[in-house]
Amino acid sequence: MDSRQPESALAVRAGMEAFDTHSGAELQAFFANLRKAHRSALLLDYDGTLAPFQEDRDRAFPYPGVSMLLGEIMSAGHTRVVVISGRRAGDVVCLLAVDPHPEIWGVHGLQRLRPNGSCESPEIDEIARQALAEAAASVEQLGLGGLVEHKPCSIALHWRGLSPESQAETRNLVRQKWQPVADRGRMLLHDFDGGIELRRADRDKGDAVRDVLRELAPETPVAYLGDDLTDEDAFQALGKRGLTVLVRPEYRPTAAATWLQPPAELQEFLAEWLEACRTAQREPAHRASR
Ligand SMILES: [Mg+2]
Repeated sequence: MDSRQPESALAVRAGMEAFDTHSGAELQAFFANLRKAHRSALLLDYDGTLAPFQEDRDRAFPYPGVSMLLGEIMSAGHTRVVVISGRRAGDVVCLLAVDPHPEIWGVHGLQRLRPNGSCESPEIDEIARQALAEAAASVEQLGLGGLVEHKPCSIALHWRGLSPESQAETRNLVRQKWQPVADRGRMLLHDFDGGIELRRADRDKGDAVRDVLRELAPETPVAYLGDDLTDEDAFQALGKRGLTVLVRPEYRPTAAATWLQPPAELQEFLAEWLEACRTAQREPAHRASR
């Protein structure tokens, strides 16, 4: 382990003013509860959280060991694993490579792919359809069509790999084109880590988290792990009801209560989760008390 870190990889770094100094204890308390729980839920963002960013988004595979750990957590039969991503759900299935795949909410919660393979995709009205077509045409005219990702109810432009100057210039150009389109189409234009996106405004990751929470018993331990600005809606939706974890190499201000640096601390978190599930299932006393 990195000698700069405190005694546990799951401990939160001391001395960071923005950080809740009780977070280390909060993590320990969460896992203690998880070891006694009958069921649990693990909610995760994909890019930047389970997988490092890549210039080629189609090659953004998970950190080593992450897919295996998630597969084992699912096999333990204790945890409902849910991935909530800005990507299309099917893209996450391919990259994550956990078979059978977990429940996946794609396009920031607009799309829901269940473990049985059934998929609910959003309806798109004519106004939004026209807005997306107009947005696509405008970036084609700028010669930026190769940076575009088309999704149900959304269009994203990715600039990872461009120089900082080019990124800033691209952002300004696209924002100028897309903001009026967003206004006319009653859509949301937002920045994310590595690009900008125009999408339907009536759903975000917080809505997906609220939907999942409604399906859980109130005492079920639940955690959400995410890295990006779009995950802040999810952190806020979960609030004190569960454990909120920023997964990111560098700290930034966040609504999350805890911070893990990937990959080592993420891997340790998932390994501890798996062990907690197995402990819970080995303890008949706990099952008897449920
Ligand atoms: Mg992310």
